[in-house]
Amino acid sequence: MNESVKGGVSRVLSESGFRIKKHLGQNFLTDKNILDKIVKAAGVTPQTGVIEVGPGLGSLTIPLAAAAKTVLAYEIDAELVPILAETLKMSPNVILLNRDILKADIDLDVATYFKDCAEIVVVANLPYYITTPILMRFLETSKSVSRLVLMMQGEVAMRVSSEPDTKDYNALTVAIRYRASVKHLFKVPRTVFIPQPNVDSAVVMVSVDPKPSYPARDESFFFEMVHRCFSQRRKTILNNVRDAYTDKSRDEWASILQEVGIDPNCRAETLSVADFVRLADRLTVSEAGK
Ligand code: SAM
Repeated sequence: MNESVKGGVSRVLSESGFRIKKHLGQNFLTDKNILDKIVKAAGVTPQTGVIEVGPGLGSLTIPLAAAAKTVLAYEIDAELVPILAETLKMSPNVILLNRDILKADIDLDVATYFKDCAEIVVVANLPYYITTPILMRFLETSKSVSRLVLMMQGEVAMRVSSEPDTKDYNALTVAIRYRASVKHLFKVPRTVFIPQPNVDSAVVMVSVDPKPSYPARDESFFFEMVHRCFSQRRKTILNNVRDAYTDKSRDEWASILQEVGIDPNCRAETLSVADFVRLADRLTVSEAGK
């Protein structure tokens, strides 16, 4: 069975004369078991609308289309469009859009193509060079998605699914946890891709909360502040905020941190989303009162 997907990918590549574009993160998945595991993990049903980022040669698109109501597939590479159209001719419920996912108006496309879907799920073997922007785009801009099942580099998967007070926990983890919970599902060896990437991969499930558990008054300030709090991991939170926002003295910062229940000598990696929201809100309120 595995051979057939691998054989199919190799055949399409040689027959079409398509030249793989590494700069677009083109690593095509060739293992049927892993493709099936991804579709199963995504919980796709005949009522589900699926958004696929980067269908590539269609290896994941075909099983997704077999399970879903509609698949909306965004592919940036125009050269893949005729190849995909041929591969997907038996899958009439796939809408293929030759667009950059980072520039697409996802909410408009969802309203246009997913009118009668019970839920919307994102499923993708991501182009790794833009894993973070894609993830943040879905979390920040598209409010209609219930969950995302995403293949990414193993190291990034560890980071996004990490808990506070671990070496992998960083600004990205906090930004994601603001709106979602993340579960590491399974690892994927580098050997199941053509061409083979330099690192192993993993699949994670991102379950989006309908509303943030701890909503920040000013979300863009919150995201920016979190980023700054992690700018020098080894420094204390006090030193990081003082370096980032020079309008206050060290003593003023120490008392603000204490006021919101944060030990000034701790490091950002020990703080929860709720801690960062309290700090951001305290700063937003004091700015508004100026
Ligand atoms: N889904 C296929 C598979 O699993 O074999 C291909 C996955 S490959 C890792 C990533 C795909 O994303 C490529 O087809 C690439 O051309 C496409 N891609 C890269 N950047 C993109 C972008 N900004 N918007 C949409 N697609 C993009």
